[in-house]
Amino acid sequence: MAIEYSEVVRPDDTEKAQSTITVGFFPDDRRPWAVDLGGRCPRCGHDQPESRHWLVAVAGASKFSQTQREQAEAEFAELDIDLSSGDESFDLRCGCSEKHAHRPHGKSGCGAAYRVRVVWAP
Ligand SMILES: [Zn+2]
Ligand SMILES: [Zn+2]
Repeated sequence: MAIEYSEVVRPDDTEKAQSTITVGFFPDDRRPWAVDLGGRCPRCGHDQPESRHWLVAVAGASKFSQTQREQAEAEFAELDIDLSSGDESFDLRCGCSEKHAHRPHGKSGCGAAYRVRVVWAP
């Protein structure tokens, strides 16, 4: 039985999220432009749709060729934007596609809201 829908924020969910949420870096983990979060909800345990969180605004970056990527990285270096290390927190809400009882119309997931901290360094 799936747990009931609830938007009550529990510190436990944020704590657990550090191990249930998977972290990926785009385009690579050396100098990420974006953080991809996926994995499982810390409360209901259901799969979360992967979400991309941009660290820098680069229009059309996901379709960049290697050359365009190198050009952009050169521009970041000129602007003194250092992406080789960082410490960012992201607020997420469960986006599972399973059914949870008492869920208001138009909402999705189990209602859990949690924060994921992502730290990277060379
Ligand atoms: Zn769920
Ligand atoms: Zn959930």
